[in-house]
Amino acid sequence: MKSLNRLCLCVFICLIISCSDSAVSVNENVDLALVGPRLIDGTGNDPIQDSVLLIGQGTIQAVGPRQSIEIPEGTETINLSGKTIIPGLVDLHAHYGGPVTASEQALKNQLYYGVTTTRSIGSDTPDKVSLMLEAHAGRPDLPRAFTAGLGFSYPGGFNSSFPNTPTTPEEARENVREQAALGVHFTKMWVNEVNEAGLKIPAEIRSAIIDESIRNGLIPVAHIDEEADGIQLLEAGMNEFLHSTVLTFGPGAGTPVDNPAPSQRFLDLCLQNDCAFTPTLSIIQNNWHFAENPELLDDEILRSVFNANALDRYSDPEVRASIIEADNFQERKAAFRQVQDFVKTLFDAGIKVPLGTDSGTPSVPMGWGTHHELELYVEAGLTPMEAIMAATSIGASRLPPVGAVEFGTLTKGMSADLLVLDANPLINIRNTLQIDQVMLRGSWVNRESLLP
Ligand SMILES: [Zn+2]
Repeated sequence: MKSLNRLCLCVFICLIISCSDSAVSVNENVDLALVGPRLIDGTGNDPIQDSVLLIGQGTIQAVGPRQSIEIPEGTETINLSGKTIIPGLVDLHAHYGGPVTASEQALKNQLYYGVTTTRSIGSDTPDKVSLMLEAHAGRPDLPRAFTAGLGFSYPGGFNSSFPNTPTTPEEARENVREQAALGVHFTKMWVNEVNEAGLKIPAEIRSAIIDESIRNGLIPVAHIDEEADGIQLLEAGMNEFLHSTVLTFGPGAGTPVDNPAPSQRFLDLCLQNDCAFTPTLSIIQNNWHFAENPELLDDEILRSVFNANALDRYSDPEVRASIIEADNFQERKAAFRQVQDFVKTLFDAGIKVPLGTDSGTPSVPMGWGTHHELELYVEAGLTPMEAIMAATSIGASRLPPVGAVEFGTLTKGMSADLLVLDANPLINIRNTLQIDQVMLRGSWVNRESLLP
């Protein structure tokens, strides 16, 4: 009996010790508690209406309904009742034009708007790759960045003014190795629009780029506009596509096509190969969005991040009228609807549809454009929750982790990247623009200091 008591006592003491041990370790790791917001974690789970989020060492230490989370004594606590929290936004398609200082400002504009992760996809000269790698490594005033360096085209083809226009598989492999040596994460190829000779990048060169990318630990990505190219690339080992197989660029752009729906074969191949297809609705629709909604240009902050030439154009009532009154305006809209239907079809088929914008092109303002793309996803037929997932967890799932840290959802262990919103985006997706604060890797972003 005595020995049993002793055993019980020992177990009891051990329990106390182990309990107090874990309490101490939680205390040490938690710097901040966010208390009371509606929390949308990015996984697609129902929102937690009255949540507690414990943050420390740049990551999420615990998250759950208020009654389930004990806040360690002495923790700094911020009451966010009435607010909504979503994960930091992930934009998989941006370009950074101009000098390096302009690219730096563009990255800051994105972070101002809560884009905490961005992928620069094919227009980075080596000096811009260096900037992207600084952002990748954790510069606090820039979003987490990934880069594809300079993309691949074919002589005379789309974006062929960039240097990577190999004409043999050997040259292609050499070009990929040069990009890899710079430290890029992706390779990008433009398999869209033919050159004057009627050629796109030939299949054997595409295959060499894909194979050499994978050998060097890089992820190959392609801009495509035809399903046959998508199938060839899938069979060659690629599973990352941009834009759509509904023609939207080059000759014929803006005209509805006869067969916009993807074939079952393409959908099946995509699913079998865990393919992601990142459309860029903004680059199409923004060509008339500001002509139809000029009041948006009253927003001083939007004006400050807008391409100056495009802003001038859309500020001119005559230019706006010329866009809206053009003979083919309804056709352009019908063609765009086909692209939105394409997005919804892929989504319904179970294919991963992350979010990308082509931000940095003149009509797609950095940062603001990512929020507008969310709205275009909802217009395409996704729910606000599904659109938020596209712009957070799904986008992040196509990016390699940075060190040991993952990001893209507000779940335990993830990087504490988040937006505090003043309004609920599940009621109206435009509410993602009602930003109160942005956090990156557990630190509040000084948003005002980021604007130009
Ligand atoms: Zn692009």
